[in-house]
Amino acid sequence: LHPMRALFKIPRNPPPTLQQPELWSSEFNDFINKCLTKDYEKRPTVSSLLQHDFIKQIEGKENVLQRQLMEFIDVHQQMGAVSLYLYVDDLATLEVLDENTVTEQLQKSYAKDQIYTYVGDILIAVNPFRNVDIYSSQHSKLYIGAKRTANPPHIFAVADIGYQSMVTYNSDQCIVISGESGAGKTQSAHLLVQQLTVLGKANNRTLQEKILQVNNLVEAFGNAGTIINDNSSRFGKYLEMKFTCGGTVVGAQISEYLLEKSRVVHQAVGEKNFHIFYYIYAGLAEKKKLAHYKLPEYRPPRYLQNDHFRIVQDFMNNSFYKSQFELIEQCFKVIGFTLEELGSVYSVLAAILNVGNIEFSAVVSEHMIDKSNISNPVALENCASLLCIQADELQEALTSHCVVTRGETIIRPNTVEKATDVRDAMAKALYGRLFSWIVNRINTLLKPDKHLSDDGLNIGILDIFGFENFKKNSFEQLCINIANEQIQFYFNQHVFAWEQNEYLYEGVDARVIEYEDNRPLLDMFLQKPMGLLSLLDEESRFPQATDQTLVEKFEDNLKSKYFWRPKRVDLTFGIYHYAGKVLYNASGFLAKNRDTLPADIVLLLRSSENNLIRQLVTHPLTKTGIAIVVIFLLSFSSLHTDHRDTGHHPRETTSMKTQTVASYFRYSLMDLLSKMVVGQPHFVRCIKPNNDRQANKFDKEKVLVQLRYTGILETARIRRQGYSHRILFANFIKRYYLICYKTNDDPPVSPETCAAILEKAHLDNWVLGKTKVFLKYYHVEQLNLMRKET
Ligand code: ATP
Ligand code: MG
Repeated sequence: LHPMRALFKIPRNPPPTLQQPELWSSEFNDFINKCLTKDYEKRPTVSSLLQHDFIKQIEGKENVLQRQLMEFIDVHQQMGAVSLYLYVDDLATLEVLDENTVTEQLQKSYAKDQIYTYVGDILIAVNPFRNVDIYSSQHSKLYIGAKRTANPPHIFAVADIGYQSMVTYNSDQCIVISGESGAGKTQSAHLLVQQLTVLGKANNRTLQEKILQVNNLVEAFGNAGTIINDNSSRFGKYLEMKFTCGGTVVGAQISEYLLEKSRVVHQAVGEKNFHIFYYIYAGLAEKKKLAHYKLPEYRPPRYLQNDHFRIVQDFMNNSFYKSQFELIEQCFKVIGFTLEELGSVYSVLAAILNVGNIEFSAVVSEHMIDKSNISNPVALENCASLLCIQADELQEALTSHCVVTRGETIIRPNTVEKATDVRDAMAKALYGRLFSWIVNRINTLLKPDKHLSDDGLNIGILDIFGFENFKKNSFEQLCINIANEQIQFYFNQHVFAWEQNEYLYEGVDARVIEYEDNRPLLDMFLQKPMGLLSLLDEESRFPQATDQTLVEKFEDNLKSKYFWRPKRVDLTFGIYHYAGKVLYNASGFLAKNRDTLPADIVLLLRSSENNLIRQLVTHPLTKTGIAIVVIFLLSFSSLHTDHRDTGHHPRETTSMKTQTVASYFRYSLMDLLSKMVVGQPHFVRCIKPNNDRQANKFDKEKVLVQLRYTGILETARIRRQGYSHRILFANFIKRYYLICYKTNDDPPVSPETCAAILEKAHLDNWVLGKTKVFLKYYHVEQLNLMRKET
């Protein structure tokens, strides 16, 4: 069939009479009337429409159909009666596949609220920037176990494919969502979890509720308003839903990556702190508990002062924040946190805000040593009391430090600048550790019972922050963009390289397909010892190093066409990322990478009388901050080996060294990758249709750029030519032998048996490799259908 699909959106009450122009044939009228039934359930699906006699008759006469339908649209859209649209729902089936046709198809679909499109088995999602009515429970039902062509493309279909593959092939799955900031990754992740809980039919409602709350909770702590996205994820998240091998959902686990802690103490112009701070302010104000948590009611705490909020009332009286507070408190309770834990969480958050209010002034001493003093003891007292530690000890830890020389411990005063740094480091560390603690706690509370999870399966959903390119880009953007390079590399590997390798291995003819390989760029970042991150680590170990010497080191050592320095004198350097060139400013790189929290502060917090606070500093498990464990990875080359075949995870050795952010970061990338490569991947590519967050605005140029750098165009080409499913002979026979054999038959595992089944199913265009059957996705749909019928 021609890929052109017709889909009707029927208003609840169709007009009583529809005057049909005479040029329409009676079959066509019949066809239209079928679609106008009030009863949603009885409405024909797209595929049944396509089976309709009328459509069959006009096969090869698409122009006629198109004209007729267009006229129908004109007449009835004017009447407001019906909206009807034509779109291509799988770009891989387009005959002409160039940039223009692809963008045009996306635009056409988008104009009709059809925000999803397939490219083979990859889903493209174009952000609608408004609520579209396609996520109801009716829609959810529509996609359960349905043939892909039965319904318009949808994120629920991806959940279904993932789930069905997991159950059928008894293998873990992984759904990778990518796209730039604000493209809709987090929303997509929510929708996937939602549909997967439906599919996984949790037999206890509480578990289902708990799982649905997890995202809301971690996002309150890990998301913030940026100039690009009001709810921007400031951490990477890998959520694994755990199932029994029968497919019942039994739990969930989250891993978090690279929380942007610096946001706690400083936000760029036009940006905000993490949501939770505003929520607790509004919520605790409502409960008249601000004083209890020692939160000032007049001036906003320093960490919350930005151009959005000049007076505390700005967020204290915000009704949205109040309702969010209620929601988050509810999430905590549903998931199973105790009231005591909740109180401690608020205390830590309030303590962080109070830490930020501590101010220092210089003390001129006779010894000419710069000392600092705390000029507002109230903030100090507040902070100490919230953290259940001694105020004088906190003062000492902030304004002085211990040095051990020749076995002697000497106490040295901190300058105002140094004391301020210690203060901010403490706030960041507390927040980062609190976040990890919450995540760990959720994992404990949602861990499946051992007997359920022993040989269980899982579906992982990766929602990682999008590629970023601001006016000013710092260390955080560099990390985020490297992570995106890594995901892109994985995508390329999956779609192109592995594809080709398998063809070659199986002796199946494959045209060599060229694609933009970002491996040289990744090498430039991750190689040892001369990659950018290694150079950064090396420079971080020199006490005398400055951000200037760092940039110079980059320039001297990174002999790569992907790196350049626009000006000799300043701290700027540029990188040509797969998604475009980005200018970074190295100011603060060394400090951010060292990310040290003075030992004095750690020791002090360990003396806290609050259980939670002690836990935050005693468990080296928390991944951020000064972890004691450094992970030396195998050389980066291990990343390039095919993990699927070897099954090897990156090996780790540990040593007692201070860990830098860069080394931890490199570790977490490897960790993430090792999790992803064990599962069968599915990709969701989110596209942002414009930069203004506007509904109904499709900026062609903007979309085209994203299509280009995500490799979607090449994907379409390779998928169309290729075979999206390859199944080992044995698995294929086990699964489909009933199409051709009797229940008690035991046909031999051989290519001949496979061929017999495929011929019996009247399929063609399939290929037999050395060990596997190569199938197109529609073959698999047909086979599954036949299997159900037998
Ligand atoms: P970041 O990288 O900054 O975290 P993101 O890709 O996760 O960005 P989202 O937060 O998911 O982006 O989406 C940004 C906004 O776009 C959402 O807050 C929502 O308003 C809108 N949006 C995204 N997807 C949809 C959708 N399917 N339906 C309606 N609105 C959507
Ligand atoms: Mg997000």
